Amino acid sequence: MNPEHPVCVYYGKALARYGFGAGHPFGSDRMGVFGRLLEQRGLTTRVRICPPVQAERDALTRFHTPEYIERLQTLSSLGEGFLDYGDTPAFPGIYEAAATVAGSVLDGIKRLMEGDCRRVFVPIAGLHHARRDRAAGFCAVNDCGIAIETLKQVYGLKRIAYVDIDAHHGDGVFYAFESDPDLYFADLHEDGRYLYPGTGNLMETGKSAARGHKLNLPMPPRAGDELFLQVWDRVEAFVEHCSPEIILLQAGADSLGGDPITHLAYTEAAHAHAARRLCVLADRHCNGRMLAMGGGGYSRANLARAWCAVVEAFLGD
Ligand SMILES: [Zn+2]
Repeated sequence: MNPEHPVCVYYGKALARYGFGAGHPFGSDRMGVFGRLLEQRGLTTRVRICPPVQAERDALTRFHTPEYIERLQTLSSLGEGFLDYGDTPAFPGIYEAAATVAGSVLDGIKRLMEGDCRRVFVPIAGLHHARRDRAAGFCAVNDCGIAIETLKQVYGLKRIAYVDIDAHHGDGVFYAFESDPDLYFADLHEDGRYLYPGTGNLMETGKSAARGHKLNLPMPPRAGDELFLQVWDRVEAFVEHCSPEIILLQAGADSLGGDPITHLAYTEAAHAHAARRLCVLADRHCNGRMLAMGGGGYSRANLARAWCAVVEAFLGD
């Protein structure tokens, strides 16, 4: 462990390349906006800045089908076409960019598992909609799913907690692990009757051996911090009960008021609270091991504030 910098933040051009061009909600300017606020708040000198790392193909196929990865590589070299039915266009180099998002998360996991640091934040990551065999909702790969499979297959973990506070339901993670008892999944999202992808109702609690290992908590449109804090207690009790070996947080900033494509109304105080409380649980159960992914967030000001709030919580501010 490096006591000087127990918090790692992944940052660099290769990570920013995952974006769909100027004017797109998921544009490649998102990382820089976060970086500027990180700098302004004096946080860059207090964390360890880690360079992005591109994942090997074999790491991606721990979660994705080889056929899908091949299709992604082909469309990436062609530089055009759609990876799904219209939400997720291919661009030249999208394979390398997506593999870099996943690789940075995996590098962060390696550092946590080796005791090199206690907390990791990866902006741009948290592409929670991609399925094992297809892209979806701006997500060409599912770095969360790849991380979970890696924790199981490479590190042999048996109790992994995944908490998702993005406005959208983390369907790509949920359905891939719906019957897997090793993944304890808690997702607070805008009710699927009002927002993409339409899934994640209260009755979806996991199947077969995983029954009771999943918690889906739909929130009404315009829900603010007060309701978030009330409902959050259930997430905390759930994570406490599962006594995890590592905690993953998808800290999507599109659940803040004013996001152009969703209807929730939290402030960054919600993100700060979630990160702070999960740190307490990570210290109690996981030797401090906690990794957060930036997730969605399409108001630039919101994503910078929410992501910096997570980093500040990691630093104990
Ligand atoms: Zn989202």
